[in-house]
This record gives sequence, structure tokens and C-alpha cells, in this order.
Amino acid sequence: MFDVIIAGCGPTGAMLAAELRLHDVRVLVLEKETAPKSFVRIVGLHMRSLELMAMRGLLDRVLRHGRQRPAGGFFAAIPKPAPKGLDSAHPYLVGIPQPVIERLLEERAVELGAQVRRGSAVTGLAQDDEGVTVELADGERLRSRYLVGCDGGRSTVRKLLGVGFPGEPSRTETLMGEMEVGVPQEEIAAKVAEIQETTRSFWLRPFGGGIYSVVVPAAGVGDRAEPPTLEDFEQALRAIAGTDFGVHSPRWLSRFGDATRLAERYRVGRVLLAGDAAHIHPPIGGQGLNLGVQDAFNLGWKLAAQIRGWAPEPLLDSYQAERRPVAEDVLDNTRAQMELLSTEPGPRAVRRLLTELMDFEEVNRHLIEKITAIGVRYDFGDGPDLLGRRLRDIDVAQGHLYSLLHRGRGLLLDRTERLTVGGWSDRVDHLADPTAALDAPCVLLRPDGHVAWIGDDQRDLDDHLSRWFGEPAG
Ligand SMILES: Cc1cc2nc3c(=O)[nH]c(=O)nc-3n(C[C@H](O)[C@H](O)[C@H](O)COP(=O)(O)OP(=O)(O)OC[C@H]3O[C@@H](n4cnc5c(N)ncnc54)[C@H](O)[C@@H]3O)c2cc1C
Repeated sequence: MFDVIIAGCGPTGAMLAAELRLHDVRVLVLEKETAPKSFVRIVGLHMRSLELMAMRGLLDRVLRHGRQRPAGGFFAAIPKPAPKGLDSAHPYLVGIPQPVIERLLEERAVELGAQVRRGSAVTGLAQDDEGVTVELADGERLRSRYLVGCDGGRSTVRKLLGVGFPGEPSRTETLMGEMEVGVPQEEIAAKVAEIQETTRSFWLRPFGGGIYSVVVPAAGVGDRAEPPTLEDFEQALRAIAGTDFGVHSPRWLSRFGDATRLAERYRVGRVLLAGDAAHIHPPIGGQGLNLGVQDAFNLGWKLAAQIRGWAPEPLLDSYQAERRPVAEDVLDNTRAQMELLSTEPGPRAVRRLLTELMDFEEVNRHLIEKITAIGVRYDFGDGPDLLGRRLRDIDVAQGHLYSLLHRGRGLLLDRTERLTVGGWSDRVDHLADPTAALDAPCVLLRPDGHVAWIGDDQRDLDDHLSRWFGEPAG
């Protein structure tokens, strides 16, 4: 009997496994693929995800394998630099191959004690009052107290639950792959520049060693479960460029669509959904992986609290209440970005207008805070603007605030030096530091770094400790 079985060892599943292990939860991750993916798709980790990595002591590993790039220019690929003074200690983007970030997260989960079983596809589930029975493709049955579907956009877990996934189907499809070409670079560059005047989802970029990264609109919407063939690429290239550039010897070939869908529910009893299993949208702006990892960060400590037995009644349901509106907002901003990529005269005019508006710092800042998720504010009720937001990595007497959050516990950051976490000290740390660079007497941080309370009154604090961390020990 495991505490939690996670279906899928993509970035969301691996992050969730690591978060659960911080609280000694017995975790098994089931991954249907026998080996890690070979697709070398470069993804961007935005500011909030970098902050999460810093909060768990993972940022150095990520920086060693990725390339720091400016944070601006991602909203609808409008090339505006980020405004100065962004509210983060990590105001940049890290470009990193998706297989590398997946490996780093999986390694971390395993280091912390998670079990990962590859070649194990979840095919069935049944739940009762005590737990969930998970059935694998080879007929084996496993038991756990909870199951989390982190099994991607075509989630088996979501389908088995019968949870609706309404939204818009793919209208277009894009082929993506790495291969060699048969014509000189100069010839390719001239043709690509000409086509990019009118088509944005098209490029042939040298990747090193004679390999090109090729992205080209497909002729129509095919079966996403089937990988495309080299002939599909040749046809698509001829249709758009009049030549197939002599492409040959592919390393890998893939396709992606522009469907936008959101799960109707994130929880049915003892089964939850996270990451692409709960939401899909076009890749413009580079938010999908970030959103999934942030779902896992929100869910991990809550599910651990449920298992450890101290979760207040509504805590686990706050996962959907907090994260579904964030996904709704991401879906909406990608819908808007897709319109802005259209080469029709109307959307082009709107794009020109928005480009002008982004010269206003507030507009630019708003869009960047949205796309990097540092602007997320959960609804914790009435209170100062900081309530429900994440706190940036401020300076404290011991160095940086985030280095105090590595263990995934709550933190009382106390400038008054007269408050206490009392019977919650097994779940919440206390830092009394009158010098902390904080514009409030005292804040209570959840394990995900969001501000759960602001004030200086012990009784009020105790009420909020109960609200988020359950009954005090003893
Ligand atoms: C071209 C492109 C560019 C992108 N660029 C970015 C970017 O810059 N930034 C960004 O944030 N996002 C980006 N994304 C999106 C990102 O790749 C996804 O959002 C991300 O992979 C979702 O992670 P996940 O773990 O939720 O799901 P997945 O990565 O899909 O992982 C799901 C895992 O579950 C496994 N699985 C599936 N079914 C089962 C089953 N039945 N049993 C067990 N295991 C199962 C799968 O094998 C897989 O390993 C991009 C996507 C595309 C297509």
C-alpha cells in the first residue's frame, strides 16, 4: 500500500513526487514509457518556476544546464524588453531542454526516496473509502490512498474518472523535428526569412553538427497519437516553401496542435489531476510546463498534510479552488496570443496597437507578470494586496528567505520578535528577524511561499495557523 501513486513521470509528476517526499509520504510514480523522452524541445522556465527551484535548493542545478535569457519578448513573441525592477530576485528566463529538466526533477524525486517504475502504464482505477486500486496494462493491481493523474493532455486517469475536458479542438497542427538538410545554409536562410514575413510557425534553424531544427505548419490536423513521417515534413515544406530542402536522416519527429481545454474538475474523491492532464493550450508564451510544475507545488504539501492527518477539512479542495482559475487565465492569455499571431489584417492591426501600448511600463509589466506567473494572487479573503500573493526572495538575517524554505514547511517571518508558532512548530518554522526587508510586521508563509496571513496579533495568527495547518500538536 502506497500513500500516493502518481501516473506519469513528466515534469509535473516528478515535481509532485519530490514535494511529497519532503513530508515522508510513500510515493510510487508509474511511467508508461520505458525510457526518458528523446525530444530535445527547448522550454523556457519563467520567473515563478525559477523561484520554486530556488525555494527547494534546485536552482543551481537548473542554471548549470540551462541558458539565462532576458525575461521579456514572450507575450505573443512581441519583441519588447522587460520593464526594469521586476519584483523577483530571478528576473530572467532559463532556456533548458525539456528532457534535461525532466531528468533533474526525476533525479531529485528519487534522491528524496520516491520510487519510479518505467514501462508501467495505468489502464484502470477503482476507488473506495480507504483508497484507490490502480490497474496496469499487464493486469497488475496496486493500492494507494490517493492517485494523481500527471499523465499529460491525453490523460488516461482523467478519462477513467469521466471528467469532462471542454474547450476548443485543434484548428491547426505544426510539425516539429530535427533532421539533416541537403542544401546550403545561405539558401535556407533567405527562403526562411521570406516565408516568415507571412507565417510565424515556420523555421529551419541550424542546431549544430549539420542537424536542423525544423518547424512547419502541417497540411491538416492528423492523428496526434501517431508520430509524423519524414514524408509528412517533405510535403509540408514543399507546400509552404516550394522545396523540401532535401531533408533526410531525422533524429526525431513530432507534432503539436493548438487545442485549448480545461478539466471540469481537478479532484474526484481520492483521485486528482495536475499539469497537462488538467489543462492544455498552444505553446505560445511557453507556459504549459511552468503551469504543471506550479500545480504540483500547490498540491504537494496539501496532499502530504492530508496523508499525515493534520490537513484542515477544506485544504485539499483549495488545490482546485486556487489552481483552476490560474489555468483559466493562462488558457485565455494563450487564446489572445494566438489571435495576435494571425497574419490577417485585423489581428495584425491589433498587434501593432498592443505593441505601442507595451511602451507603457504598466502594460508591459502586467503582461510579463501574467506570463511568468509572479502576478498570481490566490483568493484568501479580504486583506492587504500581499495576502494570497507569493513573497519574493527577500534578504533576511541568515541570507535569503528562500533558502529557509527548502524543507517544504510553513514559515512565520516575524519582525516583531514577540510572536510564536506554539503547537504548530512541527509544521511551521519561526524566523524572528527585525531586519527582514519586509513591509509588514509579520507574515505567515505557506510551504509554497504564498502569504497566508499578515499582522502582529498572536490570537489572529493562531486562527490562521489553524486555518492552514490544522490543530496544534499536543
Ligand atoms: C512545441 C512545444 C513547446 C513548448 N514549450 C514550452 C515552454 O517553453 N515552456 C513551458 O512551460 N511549456 C512548454 N510546452 C508545454 C510542455 O511541454 C507541457 O506543458 C509539459 O510537458 C506538461 O508536463 P506534464 O508533466 O503535465 O505532462 P507530460 O509532459 O505530457 O508528461 C506526462 C507523462 O505521463 C506519461 N503517461 C501518459 N499516460 C500514462 C499512463 N496511462 N500511465 C503512466 N504514464 C503515462 C507520459 O509518457 C509522460 O511521461 C511546450 C509544448 C510544445 C508542444
